[in-house]
Amino acid sequence: MPSYLLLTSLPLANMCYAIPGKITDFDGKKVIVDYFGEKRYAYNEFKEVKKGDYIYAQGGFVINVVPEKEAMEILEFWKESFFKLREVDLRLARLEGSGVAGEKTRIILDKALEGRKIDFEEYLYLLSLEDENDMGYLFKVANFIRQKHHKNACCVHGIIEFSNFCSSDCLYCGIRKSNRTLERYRMSEEEILQTVREAVSVYGFKSIVLQSGEDPHFDADGISFLIRRILKENNLLLFISVGEVGERGLKKFYEAGARGVLIRFETSDKELYSKLHPRDALSYRMAEIRAAGEIGFLVLTGGLVGVPGQKNEDILKDIFAAKKLCPEMYTFGPFLPHPDTPLSQNQPPAVELVLKTIAVLRLADVNGKIVSTTALETLDAEKGRNDGFMAGANSLMLNLTPEKYRGLYNIYPGRIHEKETVKHQIDKAIEDLQKLGRAPTDIGLR
Ligand code: SF4
Repeated sequence: MPSYLLLTSLPLANMCYAIPGKITDFDGKKVIVDYFGEKRYAYNEFKEVKKGDYIYAQGGFVINVVPEKEAMEILEFWKESFFKLREVDLRLARLEGSGVAGEKTRIILDKALEGRKIDFEEYLYLLSLEDENDMGYLFKVANFIRQKHHKNACCVHGIIEFSNFCSSDCLYCGIRKSNRTLERYRMSEEEILQTVREAVSVYGFKSIVLQSGEDPHFDADGISFLIRRILKENNLLLFISVGEVGERGLKKFYEAGARGVLIRFETSDKELYSKLHPRDALSYRMAEIRAAGEIGFLVLTGGLVGVPGQKNEDILKDIFAAKKLCPEMYTFGPFLPHPDTPLSQNQPPAVELVLKTIAVLRLADVNGKIVSTTALETLDAEKGRNDGFMAGANSLMLNLTPEKYRGLYNIYPGRIHEKETVKHQIDKAIEDLQKLGRAPTDIGLR
């Protein structure tokens, strides 16, 4: 049976998106897990576990104990396809057969392959490549390095956008406060809970991002209450993405049980930041992200690629600014002009620039996870996601927002998957992952 059929015939709840591992030992607060013969580590804060238990982990946290019989069935099911997928990934990550890249490109990329330091000017050279052979080789090397450090592991999160109200006015964003043409929505607590419930119990998601604009209706206490309710009935790694809430707000989220924060800084250039965010200061944004990391959250952060006024040098500085924040995962997506914003007359960047950003990011941080963003897919509906994966990315997010609201979370126009059911998105994701030989194996610490 082809491995794709093997994958799709797995019960959905077991498919999305983790494979259980067996606890073989303990190391302080961490458990050591056997995972198809490999050793991985995961923090255990919430569950009572013992040697021999099977667990699901996400982002390096134990989130669930799986009954042995169920775990054995899933592992048995995965065994054949897992190794087949790994072979596909290995084959696709080979460097042989790359077109002939220019000498300077090869010299710089040789350094990356040998783990030697690449300096700022050299990274800038890579980010500015225009020749197809040069770019192709950059992507190949980035994918090779991704494979070397992460194997075929792919992390799949779900995202629920629960309110499109926002008190901020970021110039690039379609749900900014000043966009009076947009119909606003706010999901009720019951709707949010029901959406999470379905994502976990029907589709098997193990990691979910709760996202909204900066909606004053949901203060830090209200969101913390929601986090507690969600985690009381679901085994889940929960990320919060509601804009700036200050250190006190972040601590409340952490105490309530959330373990991840998604907050981008968009640009690390102070002047550009203040032009794009008339009310806000870059220093506050960076302090918020740093505080999230210090509290112990897994941090997802990144920036916009191709925003008006940005140079390649700025993008590179953004990559290094993001790296300094030690994120669990990077998210760098293209600027897509929204017709009802002050930046409507600008053009989006070339897809290649976004892919080069992902590739350079992969060279700059071999360990971090990198999302192939929905915005990239929107920019190039046919190949965006997979090209992102082939340029060094290894994570993706599926949109779980109820369909009646999804189109209203209109941060940029024509967002892909807006009208697709969750089931359809999952099917497409499985198909793409299978083609690329990637498996949902987010279990260990890095
Ligand atoms: S980017 Fe975020 S904070 Fe800014 S307007 Fe959009 S939703 Fe609000």
